[in-house]
Amino acid sequence: MRFAVTKVCGSGGKARAGALHIGGGGIGIETPALLLSTRKGLPSFVSCDLLASLPLPDSLLLHVCPTHFIEGPPLKTISNIGGLHRMLGLPDHILVAAAGDSIESLPSSEATNKFGASFETPSGRRLVKPSDYMELVSCMKPNLWASLADEASGTNSFGVIVGGSSIEQRRLCATEVSKRNVSEKQTSYISCTDLFVAKFDAGFWIGGFGLGENIEERCSLLNAVTDCLPPEKPRLVSRLGLPEEVLEGVAAGIDLFDSTYIYQLTMGGFALIFPIDMVERDMQNGLFHNDGGDSTKINLHATTYRKDTSRLVDSCSCFTCQNHTRAYLNHLLNVHEMLAQILLEIHNTHHYLRFFCSIREAIKVGEFDLFRQQFVKKRRAHIAAAVL
Ligand SMILES: [Zn+2]
Repeated sequence: MRFAVTKVCGSGGKARAGALHIGGGGIGIETPALLLSTRKGLPSFVSCDLLASLPLPDSLLLHVCPTHFIEGPPLKTISNIGGLHRMLGLPDHILVAAAGDSIESLPSSEATNKFGASFETPSGRRLVKPSDYMELVSCMKPNLWASLADEASGTNSFGVIVGGSSIEQRRLCATEVSKRNVSEKQTSYISCTDLFVAKFDAGFWIGGFGLGENIEERCSLLNAVTDCLPPEKPRLVSRLGLPEEVLEGVAAGIDLFDSTYIYQLTMGGFALIFPIDMVERDMQNGLFHNDGGDSTKINLHATTYRKDTSRLVDSCSCFTCQNHTRAYLNHLLNVHEMLAQILLEIHNTHHYLRFFCSIREAIKVGEFDLFRQQFVKKRRAHIAAAVL
């Protein structure tokens, strides 16, 4: 893996554009970027063939949760097949393995103890020992991975930064983890496997957000962490999914995001509709519809869409918008057809990847602050109108 920061801008000069190169094939992913969330390796409703219809190369970046595989297929079988890439039929995709939630995220979990951490699995919450987790990762052979938060240091590809809502703890953790020469230790640790070749530039996985902290707390914590990290390595943050949260993360110098936001939207029958770039935003200024949405999304369950023959988003080139109407999606939801979720997930993923693309463009031309301000301003205006 190689990573390079190509442009830095924004207040305090922290928002950054970069390029992540994975594997010998030289696949380059521009950052800030989104890791598509998956369940057992694929997005919840998008199959391999439809996955190929999403924007490239951005849609090649997938987040996989090792604990989703804890009860099968047998690890030896995954290993014999050749790892997750081969099993999923996605040889060119970049699989980033990180546990869905960490021990720090769930301090009240009774199942968490000194032997391991408690994780959500397909069959409920289970205790996962670090050694079990490492075996999972070894068999899966992801491109990148982060270990359990409490695992012994030096075994991470991505050093794990935790510390909850304490700025001091976050700073301490970030400082200590960034001091370690993660690459060297990791290389020696994995010498018995063919998981990763040497010369990795490690990055950082920042967990423990999206758990009810308010905006001010989150901004302070994120900035406290990124201020302590070396600038040349990528930073991945978990659970920041709302557009405003992503913009906050980018402003604090985050490069990669993993969250289940798209999945949650899709399950709720929502479609993202917010204007992607500044031109679209200008055109939509002043428009306000009371349609069960919040200016970023609409709820296709609403009866107002029953006879709506328009696309989800006129300017969207995704499969859903090119072929279907809001009325059809409303109908599919009403009759509980899974095709509704398939079509919504395609659109929402497409829309959100375009949003990330716009963020990158704004950074490249030095206008990220303006981009962010416009986005937040429009949302505030909408919320104020809704209250009135
Ligand atoms: Zn679309």
